[in-house]
Amino acid sequence: MADSMKHKFEVTFWGTRGTLPVSGAPFVRTGGNTNCIEITCDDHTIIIDGGTGIRELGSKLVAAKPNQKIHLMLTHAHYDHVEGIPFFAPFFNENSQININCGVLEGCRSTSELMQTFMTRPFFPVGPEVFSAQINYNTLEDNCVFKISDDIKVSTVPMNHPGNSTGYRIDFAGKSFACITDTEHTPGTHDENILRLIDNVDVFSYDCSLTDNELPDFQGYGHSTFEEGARLAKLANAGSMRASHHMPFRNDDELDAIEKQLKQQEPLNAIAREGDIIKL
Ligand SMILES: [Zn+2]
Ligand SMILES: [Zn+2]
Repeated sequence: MADSMKHKFEVTFWGTRGTLPVSGAPFVRTGGNTNCIEITCDDHTIIIDGGTGIRELGSKLVAAKPNQKIHLMLTHAHYDHVEGIPFFAPFFNENSQININCGVLEGCRSTSELMQTFMTRPFFPVGPEVFSAQINYNTLEDNCVFKISDDIKVSTVPMNHPGNSTGYRIDFAGKSFACITDTEHTPGTHDENILRLIDNVDVFSYDCSLTDNELPDFQGYGHSTFEEGARLAKLANAGSMRASHHMPFRNDDELDAIEKQLKQQEPLNAIAREGDIIKL
């Protein structure tokens, strides 16, 4: 039996919006929740980022199996990547075991300090002590490789984003998925760290906040473009690229038009939409 038949390796997008959640008719097809990706490797659950999309994912996980072991990987702690965390149902379940991983961020010494600082007054009414799950905090070095089970490998790279951010790659059962958000490239060059991480990857999601034309107006905000995502996919021999981290001003029609252009170059590249499931 082929590996892909023996194993379940599934990626679900619970939020693909960057910067701010949006709602309303112009956004329903792409979805309005901010960054959250669920990765299922057999009975292991890995989640990348805790944007508003993580709330609904939490309800699903608790309903499916109350005593979950969950690996939460944070790319960084800008609001659009963490604002759903206090509303993630498994945190309030004493049978859940949750490992929270994050790289070193500017102004913060550890992942546990990060959570304390994020959930504190005047920004939030209660601290992480309200959680009843068993929580382990891991602070990741740059460029680390670790296993969360015998056959699930996680690799990371540092990315170019104000205050730092981390790119993740998951390898399991001969297949791979990578999440590259948030990062800014220098026009005319390619980020060698990212190229290394996505080398021959099956699918990667990429920070496509902007177009190449818009990038000069957003210099220093730490974001990249649809066109750069497509270029990196080609250079790294990646199977396909899912454009994500959509700006709040980018409506469904505009994203459909951009997707058409992406597909003219490479039919497998696509816009990441809330609810999309990739079976690897
Ligand atoms: Zn972001
Ligand atoms: Zn950010």
